[in-house]
Amino acid sequence: MPRPIEALIHPAALAHNLQRARALAPDARVFAVVKANAYGHGIENVFPGLRGADGIALLDLDEAQRVRTLGWRGPILLLEGCFEARDLELCSRLRLWHAVHCQEQIDWLAMHKTHEPHRVFLKMNSGMNRLGLTPSAFRAAWTRLNALPQVDEITLMTHFSDADGARGIAHQMQVFLEATSDLPGERSLSNSAAVLRHAADAAVRADWVRAGIMSYGSAPDYPEHDIHHWALQPTMTLRARIIGVQQLQAGDTVGYGSSFRAEGPMRIGVVACGYADGYPRHAPSGTPVLVDGQRSRTVGRVSMDMLAVDLSALPQAGMGSEVTLWGRGPGASVLSIDEVAHAAGTIGYELMCALARRVPVSVD
Ligand code: PLP
Repeated sequence: MPRPIEALIHPAALAHNLQRARALAPDARVFAVVKANAYGHGIENVFPGLRGADGIALLDLDEAQRVRTLGWRGPILLLEGCFEARDLELCSRLRLWHAVHCQEQIDWLAMHKTHEPHRVFLKMNSGMNRLGLTPSAFRAAWTRLNALPQVDEITLMTHFSDADGARGIAHQMQVFLEATSDLPGERSLSNSAAVLRHAADAAVRADWVRAGIMSYGSAPDYPEHDIHHWALQPTMTLRARIIGVQQLQAGDTVGYGSSFRAEGPMRIGVVACGYADGYPRHAPSGTPVLVDGQRSRTVGRVSMDMLAVDLSALPQAGMGSEVTLWGRGPGASVLSIDEVAHAAGTIGYELMCALARRVPVSVD
């Protein structure tokens, strides 16, 4: 018997979530963002759900190559562009669109010998101060790119820092629109949070949206809104079974550090899932789980291979019961990854990406 833990990937849910992006930005085309091995899901595993996308956005040439090998013939965008001049070779061969966010990347293009001209996404730093050209350098860069025979189309691009929060996107929108108002070409601005919260504005939707986390059934603005509010479906389920049961008396403690103390008699189940599987070690006692589809909570510290859950209110549960750590439980039960991430002081993105290699993955 293998250790009773597994992850399930739900490509149909991903297709549904991409449809949500499309419905919210009906006049835009949708990039499904599959960087970081599809946010930890495995590009190959989610691939059947990507058919509804107009394009695929990612970071690595290696991932781009995998997507082409899977048979994707449509647009692929390298969100950070090339990391060195020689990457342009493979970019040409794989017909990749690529971001250009700095002068060096323009220099590399100017020296590149290519048969097919490139489509580039010229990226402005409109306030996030991560990648991108300043608004004043942007225009000169556009002019230079526009004169290069190696370039046949320039899309104008920026990325929001606070589309999910109180600060919002107004300032970055103003910076971007002022600097680009008279430049031709398509535009791409929105990540998931901008699609979900700000897509009523046509300038925000623009021509291409880049849907990452929402495609994977996680709400970027949790706990303000949850996946039910946004009508998103989880694309990853992590589930394991109870491999031991303990009966506690008042005063008994659970796990390393004895951080949980029973106030009265209670039954706990020990689950075959720990931080070496990708479950967050910092999830405190009280983090939600589903046991046979019923909500319960963790008790005590998460250890490398195990964690404990409260069975006091679940007399039917015991050895072999199924525990959903996040995702879809039996029947119609759902535990969003955002609830678990929030309890552990992190975000859904991090938990998905941290799913450990030792967890067997199957596609639903
Ligand atoms: N666009 C760019 C340039 C990104 O770097 C990312 C992710 O960080 C995304 C889009 C997708 O963001 P999200 O997962 O929040 O939708």
